Amino acid sequence: MESSSAATVSAGPSPGPTPADLLRRLRARGAADPVTHVERVPARPGVPAPWPSWAPPELRAAFARRGAGAPWQHQAQAATLAYEGEHVVVATGTASGKSLAYQLPALATLLADPRATVLYLAPTKALAADQLRAVAALELEGVRPACYDGDTPRAEREWIRRHSRFVLTNPDMLHHGVLPGHAQWSGFLRRLAYVVIDECHTYRGVFGSHVAHVLRRLRRQCARFGSTPVFVLASATSGDPSTAAGRLTGLPVTAVTEDASPRGGVTFALWEPPLLPPDSGPSTPVPPQSTGDHDDLQQVRRSALRETADLLADTVAEGVRTLAFVRSRKGAEVVAANARRALDDAVPGLGDRVAAYRGGYLREERRELERALLHGDLLGLASTNALELGVDLVGLDAVLICGYPGTRASLWQQAGRAGRSGQEALAVLVARDDPLDTYLVHHPEAIFGAPVEATVLDPANPYVLAPQLACAAFEAPLTPADLALFGDGAKEAVDQLVAAGALRQRPTGWYWRHRERPEVDLRGEGGAPVCVVESSTGRLLGTVDGGSSHFLLHSGAVYLHQGVSYVVDDLDLVDGCALVHAEEPDWSTHARDVTDLSVVSVRSYVDAGPVGMFLGEVDVTSQVVSYQRRRIATGEVIDTRPLDLPARELRTVAVWFTLSPQSLTLAGVQPADVPGALHAAEHAAIGLLPLMATCDRWDIGGLSTAVHQDTEAPTVFVYDGHPGGAGFAERAYGTASAWLRATRDAIAECGCESGCPSCVQSPKCGNGNNPLSKPDAIRVLDVVLANLPE
Ligand SMILES: [Zn+2]
Ligand SMILES: [Zn+2]
Repeated sequence: MESSSAATVSAGPSPGPTPADLLRRLRARGAADPVTHVERVPARPGVPAPWPSWAPPELRAAFARRGAGAPWQHQAQAATLAYEGEHVVVATGTASGKSLAYQLPALATLLADPRATVLYLAPTKALAADQLRAVAALELEGVRPACYDGDTPRAEREWIRRHSRFVLTNPDMLHHGVLPGHAQWSGFLRRLAYVVIDECHTYRGVFGSHVAHVLRRLRRQCARFGSTPVFVLASATSGDPSTAAGRLTGLPVTAVTEDASPRGGVTFALWEPPLLPPDSGPSTPVPPQSTGDHDDLQQVRRSALRETADLLADTVAEGVRTLAFVRSRKGAEVVAANARRALDDAVPGLGDRVAAYRGGYLREERRELERALLHGDLLGLASTNALELGVDLVGLDAVLICGYPGTRASLWQQAGRAGRSGQEALAVLVARDDPLDTYLVHHPEAIFGAPVEATVLDPANPYVLAPQLACAAFEAPLTPADLALFGDGAKEAVDQLVAAGALRQRPTGWYWRHRERPEVDLRGEGGAPVCVVESSTGRLLGTVDGGSSHFLLHSGAVYLHQGVSYVVDDLDLVDGCALVHAEEPDWSTHARDVTDLSVVSVRSYVDAGPVGMFLGEVDVTSQVVSYQRRRIATGEVIDTRPLDLPARELRTVAVWFTLSPQSLTLAGVQPADVPGALHAAEHAAIGLLPLMATCDRWDIGGLSTAVHQDTEAPTVFVYDGHPGGAGFAERAYGTASAWLRATRDAIAECGCESGCPSCVQSPKCGNGNNPLSKPDAIRVLDVVLANLPE
């Protein structure tokens, strides 16, 4: 990236405006002040600790050569716990030096015991490669660190298994490669001293539940070979890391959460784009599927993408090094392109100092972009969160976050990119037009005061447990003693596998009956993905997960792929393939479904007078029955066309609440308005659940009805969208009053008149957001909250 000679901004480090000055100028642009809150996060001095006495001098010297002086207190504390044999999770902020906390005990042990080994797990290959470079740079004799993943050449694999003592891999490779091939790994596993699990907060939901069992399978193999490794986990800041790490590993884990690394001060602003005048037409025309934004709803606020692009242009014009985080690739490209255009309009050539950054670049290209940004040749970068995991880029003057990234942990990771050593920096969260973002910019205490949300996973999910037990049985017959390791429900799951003919019971245990090993994909769910193929060329455009295929790829659907519009000719469910042709009609398509839900069992409930709150298993049947065509420019409905797709069933976990009809009447909800009241409350409740658990609104479904056949009362159901549940509904039940209080406040405080995407409308509603009653939804939630115990 060459710097532009026409630019009027200075290159390289420059004092620039203070964050407070910069923010003042940014917010003075429009008529209304978009800033809802400014938080000053003060600078924090670091608290160093002496090297632990057990750390050998050669290791200290190796770290010193790389510029690491004495450790910070949290690093020394976690390292010593691990060295003494306690399982430990260190959950602290970005750039707080979590790697030293596990490198120190692991490498000290490798130096002290020339036979010991270490296994390191990262969620991405890129992070494992970065860690490999860091460990290799220490140049410690006899450690022989090596990455072992899908890219490792066959020829090197045997050498790694036999000679490396620090193997870096990922959970998928552990599951598909190492554990089924444990005989070849017996030497390594027999001497395994540490298992390091980096970025462990990424193991959540169904994927996290699978990984939890992969780790139990690892522990079982280690036990067979006579080793009991210590687990060291590194997590972003998260709520209750000890419990989450315990669920992930199945072991008691001590948490170290006191961050003792130094931090520069940050001025953190919450920014709500202004409401558009009613007749100003659609705002930024961005393809909805490729950005994750909704298209079919009347947008009432200026789009967060447009607003972020303007802010990026303004900060770059001020000579401020700025990183803008955008949720999707396409969105990052739109932000960069708009900012470039605005800058070029002001000063031709200035636009060259802004670029887009996404995953998928070659490492050299990424390094070049990072270098250009650190040296000031490049001043503005719009990025997906590709930067979030393990790439070392800190010390920027400003960070713009376009849309709440889903968790407070991610928010702090992104904001943590701001602030060169000792200097003040600016961070701005630009709210998108949805209930959670709107709630957060009006409730700064939910960002700055609250403990961060817990990482949720549910290893007891029978849809995860049974296939994982099949994998375990393939690796070695299961014994009764093994069942305790896999936790509640393992015996039932084994019995089902026997009944299904997958396992055979013998006096010595349960045996896998087949020659081939079970096919289990840690990330797969909702059926096999459907391929999208261009009919004329046979070119594979991409895949859509099975769960969404009926919605997105029905015959006649307009399907967007990387900004290009296609129309689906035929969806072949047998072959898992949709044939499409390129066409750009002036309408969009919107599938409608009918959903039916029946209660299978109740796990737990709270009887609160006129209100009941329940957690239990449900069967959800849904069928996509028709789609609407709507004009893109006006949103006008052209027609509704029927579809002939089969119904699909989901056995999952739900949370639900019921209200007595009398309590609703007393609260002033007219009987005719009950359906709209419940429906609006359901939408907003789904939108706010990510405040409580690390999920996305797309992980969750809902159903509301004025009278349900199983509850015989007005009811709102919220269910996990994954077979067997992923822990989200369970978390909602456990935090019901806080969750529904936030939902109520989000609706009540929205400035719209009768409901909008920021409060009660949902981009994924199967009923076209009809009926909805915003004021009655508040009344419903008031009744629930008045009766429910805190
Ligand atoms: Zn609203
Ligand atoms: Zn709906």
